[in-house]
Formats: sequence, C-alpha cells, structure tokens
Amino acid sequence: MSSTSTAESTTTHPAWDALTTAFQEATLIGSAAGVLHWDQETKMPPEGIEPRGMQLAVLARLAHEKLTCEETGNLIAECEGIAELVDDEASDTAVTIRRIRHDYDRATCIPGELVGEEAMLASQSQHHWAEARRDADFLQFEPWLTKVVDLLRRKAECFGWADDGEPWDALAEDYEPGCTAAWVESVFTPLRTRLQDLLHRVMGSSTPPSNAFNELVLPVDRQEAFVRDVASSIGFDFRRGRLDVSTHPFCSGFHPKDVRITTRFHENNVNDALGSTMHECGHAIYEQGLCQDHAGLPLGRAVSLGIHESQSRLWENQVGRSRQFWQWCFPKLGEYFGDAAGSLDLDAVYGGANIVRPDFIRVEADEATYNMHIMIRFEIERALLKGDLEVCDVPAVWAEKYRDYLGIEVPNDAKGCLQDIHWSMVSMGYFPTYTLGNLYSAQFFDAAKREIPGLEDGFARGEFEPLRVWLNENIHQQGCRYLPPKLCEVVTGAPLCSDFLLDYLEGKYSEIYGL
Ligand code: ZN
Repeated sequence: MSSTSTAESTTTHPAWDALTTAFQEATLIGSAAGVLHWDQETKMPPEGIEPRGMQLAVLARLAHEKLTCEETGNLIAECEGIAELVDDEASDTAVTIRRIRHDYDRATCIPGELVGEEAMLASQSQHHWAEARRDADFLQFEPWLTKVVDLLRRKAECFGWADDGEPWDALAEDYEPGCTAAWVESVFTPLRTRLQDLLHRVMGSSTPPSNAFNELVLPVDRQEAFVRDVASSIGFDFRRGRLDVSTHPFCSGFHPKDVRITTRFHENNVNDALGSTMHECGHAIYEQGLCQDHAGLPLGRAVSLGIHESQSRLWENQVGRSRQFWQWCFPKLGEYFGDAAGSLDLDAVYGGANIVRPDFIRVEADEATYNMHIMIRFEIERALLKGDLEVCDVPAVWAEKYRDYLGIEVPNDAKGCLQDIHWSMVSMGYFPTYTLGNLYSAQFFDAAKREIPGLEDGFARGEFEPLRVWLNENIHQQGCRYLPPKLCEVVTGAPLCSDFLLDYLEGKYSEIYGL
C-alpha cells in the first residue's frame, strides 16, 4: 500500500534536505518537552513545578519559532516548486510537503500575542478549575470559562472556517484534521438513537451479570506483575518502552524506540488497572509501530487523536473485553492472585468485565454509555462557540442532557460540568475524537476479522501477533499519508459508519445480558 523506499533515499534537493531537517528539529524539541511532561507526571518532586514550567515554555517557543520562521516558509515554497518532489501527489515527498505546509499555515495563522495569552490563560484557568471542582462550585470557574470561550472564538476567527461551517470546525482541525461539526453530528445522530434503545434493554434485563469481579480485593504488587505480563503478551515492547504509575493514565511517544505509558492501581479494582493498561498499550503499540525511516516527519507520526484512540480502544475493548481474551487470561488470575480470585468462574469474570452502569463520570464509563458522555460535551461546546449558549447556563443544560441521555440526576458540579480538565486547558473540539476512536476501532476490527481467519479464536490461545501486525501494516506504518476518513476507507473499504460499533455492542450485550 505504501512506498517502501524512504523519501530521503530517493531525493537530493538541498531545499528538501533543509526543510526536512528543520521540521525534524522542531519535532525533536517537541519530544524533549514530552520527556519533561512525562517526568512531571511520574517522578518530579512537587516543588519542581515552577522551573519545569519555565523549561517547557522555552521549548514550546523554540519549536514554534523553528516551524514558523521565514526560512521554513521559503523552503516550503521552494519545495512546492520542484516537480520531481510534488508531481506525483501520492509520493512520499509530495505527502510530506503538503502536511508540513498544513502545519506551517496553521501555526502562522495565530499571532504570537494570542499564543502567549492562551498559555497564560490555560495555566490560570486550570488552577481555578481545580479549586472549583474541589468545592463542586461552578460559579468559581464561570468567569474563567467565559474567558476561555472568548479566546477560543477569537482563535477560531484567526483560522477561519468554510462558508457552510462554524467556529467549532476551526478548532477541531488541530485534533482531527478535516473534521467538522456537521460531519460529527451526522455520525452521532444515528448512534444516539440505537445506543439509547440498547441501553434501555440492557437496564431492563432480568439476568444481568455478576459484579463480583469488580469487588475483588487484590494486592497492588501482584496486579502490577499481572498487567505487565498482559502488556508484553499483546505486543508492548519493554525494550522500547516503560510502564509507570500516575493518577491519570497516559501515553507519551518520543520516538518509536522510546514510548512511555502509565497506569493506576486500586486494591479493589483490578479491572480498572487492566483496562487502563491495555488502553495505553494500544496507544503505545501505535507509537512503537510508526515508520522509523520517517521519524520526526509527517509520515512517521500518528495522524489524529481519533485514530490514536481507535488503537487504544481496540486493544482495551474489542480484545480485552472479549470472551476469547478471557479464555486465555482467566487462568492468569489464579497464577497471580491464587485463591483470592478462586471463587469466580470464567463467565463471572467475563460478565464483570462488561458490566453496564449509567453514571456521571466519563472516564469511568462502560462501552454502552461512554459515547453519551461525549455527545453531551460536543453539543454544549458547539453551542458555546456559536454563541447559542451562555456560559452561565452550562450547569443547567448539562443536568438536562444527563437526564435526557442517561436518565440520571447530576448531584453536583464536580460530578457534572466540572469533571473534565479539557475546557480549562483552553481546548474545545477535542471530545468527539474519543467517540470517533470507538467508531473507528469497531470498523477496523471488523476488517481485521475478515482478513485474518480465526482472529478471535487465536486470542484464546494468547495469539495477538496477527492483529498487531495487521494494524501495523494498515494503520501505524501509514503515518499521516491519508486523512482519517480516507484512511478508514482505504483500510476497511467503507466510509466511517456507526453500524459497526452498534452491531458489535448489540451482539455482545445480547449474549451477556440475555436480551
Ligand atoms: Zn486514550
């Protein structure tokens, strides 16, 4: 599917060499900042926050300057004029130049003062958000959210949007290239109807699975050994990565040879540690599988947050919550936890790993309800940016939507509109990438099953390599060659469609809940 020769080995134009070197250096500065971010979340002493902020600010400025300086602009223009580099639109060189041009144009749209104002607002509003969340009091955060919405609307104006588009589109471009609110709405609308119907039937089941698996008390050191075993079994390469502990699990990829993930442990929730680890492993397997010949260039980097999330959700859910996975993994519970897990059988563990419970907190949501949390946030931020919703009305609208979508009464702002950090980081347009990831994961997995005979049966024998290789060839090695909707068509033969996720969920829950 992709050219096997590297761009560098086939071209010798000085402008190309200079442009790719400059871009790689900007990427290297960004990845050095990534190491500092990882250290901040895992190892740094608390008092280190102030000097760390200064280090990161300098690196962010240097990377931005490297990308947006006049010399880079001239080199891009020069490369765009060299027929050998750009005439074949599908060539590695042409794709690389187009993507660098895209990044350059985005970065230069925003005046330097706005970049500084955004960084300052992000640090202040995160601080006030954390306090407001602690006190479960939206009023403390309201003036800051007002400033955030105002700044984001100005930022969207700088980027601009299509005649039939809206401000949200301009901001989403940084997370999911080519994504518009109208397209998200067209994907989400059929999803919502069928999900609500499924949820209704699941909650009405007279034979729900046992929750005993999620109540086991298991020592944290044994949990860690267990999840490390699973991580390396599914393909996380510990020679090119680390697994550490943090409050909120995450993945940082600096290079395919150095990818860090974190997880978390609670004595009474091994399922959370396993799910978090497999989720971050999915992100890490993507990062470890990127094309090293193009390291630091667009063909050697992940294409979007939605596609990234498809990889994490695929390993976490389609693999890690499948019956076949548990046929392989169930004996390991005895191996690592002895009699502590001895009272449960395979059905109880598999059912417990797939329990459905409508609740307030997005990051703890099951597969059936997760996407409802995303739709609510998408509708609210879209309306805020359009000017159709006032900031002061957010808590009331939030509560109304939770009643409508999930049938639950939000008890306070901390469990409501203050639960997520994203808006306080001056970030809107991000949330739908989580649901797009779920949709892409189901559609990719369906294609993998068609192309790899006996794929799921292999999981029961601990055979995960065929899936990892398939994902590597079809998705990881492609880097930014195709925008996400096109990548989906190339890999699966069809545009993104919510039917794949819904068929998968309806099939699974019908069996588990006896629908
Ligand atoms: Zn993720």
